[in-house]
Amino acid sequence: MSLINIRHLTKEEISKELSLLGEPSFRANQIWQWLWEKNVASFEEMSNLPQALREKLSLNFKIYKLSINNKQVSTDGTIKLGFKLYDNELVEGVLIPADDRMTACISSQVGCSLACSFCATARLPRKRNLFFDEIYDQVANINKIALEHYSKKLTNIVFMGMGEPLLNYTNVIKGIERITADDGLGMATKRITVSTAGIAKMIKKLADEEVKFNLALSLHAATDEKRNTIMAINETNNLEALKEALQYFTDKTGTRVTLEYVMLSGYNDGKEDVISLATFCKKLPCKVNLIEYNPIENGIFKKSSGNALHRFKDYLEANHIIANIRRSRGEDIDAACGQLANKEL
Ligand code: SF4
Repeated sequence: MSLINIRHLTKEEISKELSLLGEPSFRANQIWQWLWEKNVASFEEMSNLPQALREKLSLNFKIYKLSINNKQVSTDGTIKLGFKLYDNELVEGVLIPADDRMTACISSQVGCSLACSFCATARLPRKRNLFFDEIYDQVANINKIALEHYSKKLTNIVFMGMGEPLLNYTNVIKGIERITADDGLGMATKRITVSTAGIAKMIKKLADEEVKFNLALSLHAATDEKRNTIMAINETNNLEALKEALQYFTDKTGTRVTLEYVMLSGYNDGKEDVISLATFCKKLPCKVNLIEYNPIENGIFKKSSGNALHRFKDYLEANHIIANIRRSRGEDIDAACGQLANKEL
């Protein structure tokens, strides 16, 4: 970035910059509105500013916008978008339409540093964190696509795309602040879910900050022995540490957490696995999403049978644990959970 990214400034900072340029500070409110609520891509579009000011702004600042690099529509209506960032790096976001909701799945990093063995993103090295305005732009763009294709606005946002959101903590929190602000996209905080592979320390930080959005843990195996083999992060954040952090989170926020459990045939879908899962859930205010796995190219895992998913659900429910089955969406365009790998970009 050679010119200052004006969206990285607070309103107060913009006001100070304006006085340095010899402009009245009230213009900061107008500029702020154009930048966030109206989400414009250039100073030229700021039609209530004098032309001379628009020119001064263009000489000193820039509005860095991501652009849609490619768009694929699945036979089930899921739409995958490839976004090009200001430095030509690529990330993906997905619109998942359903009868009762419009969900955006967005990315938090370019690539990922955590090598989960079932995930296609893990094959892309982590290059950098996304800035908060890039997180915001993904949501704004997917919302636009939802309106264009389905005449409906987004209702839900999940941080389940590329990257580990809690390793980009500050930008994720700031991005959510802008997405939910009245002078931003005005979306409901309760409709946002941040999904983590499990970083105990950062889960506690979220709890201490008493965040209002939802938290999901990608659990996928409920013994350390198994989890260590598919999620290397478990070696430094084991199940005991994660459970303690989740309990701390639910105590502090009063919010139930979601445990994501992708069903891998012959690996984590047996009787002993569901017993371990139910044990992990004990005394934890939680619900479990049992996710149908989407095989990835040259991957080692296969999806579990429908019967296995139902057996898990029945066992959990018999143990008074809320459990839902999540069917795969957008599988034909590699837009499903764990499949984002910039393949078509
Ligand atoms: S599952 Fe999430 S944390 Fe694990 S490698 Fe994939 S993107 Fe990274």
